[in-house]
Amino acid sequence: MFNYTAPEKLLNNRVILITGAGDGIGRAAALDCARLGATVILLGRTLEKLEAVYDTIEASGYSQAAIFPLDLRSAKDEQYIKLAQILKAEFGHLDGLIHNASILGQRTPISNYESRTWNLVMHVNATAPFMMTQALLPLLEASKDASIIFTSSSVGSQGKAYWGAYSASKFAIEGLAQVLAEETENTSKIRVNIINPGATRTNMRAQAYPGENPAVNLTPEDIMPVYQYLLGPDSCGVTGQRFNAQ
Ligand code: NAP
Repeated sequence: MFNYTAPEKLLNNRVILITGAGDGIGRAAALDCARLGATVILLGRTLEKLEAVYDTIEASGYSQAAIFPLDLRSAKDEQYIKLAQILKAEFGHLDGLIHNASILGQRTPISNYESRTWNLVMHVNATAPFMMTQALLPLLEASKDASIIFTSSSVGSQGKAYWGAYSASKFAIEGLAQVLAEETENTSKIRVNIINPGATRTNMRAQAYPGENPAVNLTPEDIMPVYQYLLGPDSCGVTGQRFNAQ
């Protein structure tokens, strides 16, 4: 397990956007960031789920969150630009960006993989984070020390049979993170890192391993320390690295 104990109010006054914030690891990260003082922007495709997270944040007395419904399958440049304009008008900067949303696609041999599904998985998991990052870079540059987190997987650095486009998309996102980390290292205060969550008790894990007892896996809440470390000031200057959450 990644060893880090977050000081109370670690993320005070930070504005942090989380994709896929309505469920699983993204939901846990949103609640945890809010608990630590951040203003969180909840982005995802299912409004009811985002509203439920919003309500929990509100009921807990944390800093008020914001909701931005967006389907990464279909979002075009204009929608990312609109997102940036709204955040600029509301906050003027962005301190954290967690690229968390992704889809699994098919678990099947390459010989059987549908090209339509391949394109969809590559788009949601790799191209959409690229488009969003590009649109939000000026806002991240306006932060005193912004942190971008890309979410990979163990199959994002070592391909495994039947993981198809999911594995390829995670390799792609690791490449994107490495390129961006080098590009920003000497030109900005932005840090760019990769988290591999490891086996975590979520819907996606259950979909990938239907026969597994979910209780054997850690919960999303259990793996938050590495997110806390990378979003807070203790990781200033740490960039281009890959972290295992477990
Ligand atoms: P999850 O429970 O399935 O949650 C995925 C989130 O992404 C959901 O909030 C989902 O929204 C959102 N999402 C999916 N498609 C979207 C789209 N087109 N537009 C906007 N949002 C979309 O998965 P998870 O296990 O928490 O996974 C979070 C991240 O960790 C992913 O990047 C995954 O690859 C990675 N990861 C997970 C594990 C694991 O064991 N759980 C292991 C390694 C890596 P809806 O709920 O509305 O569909």
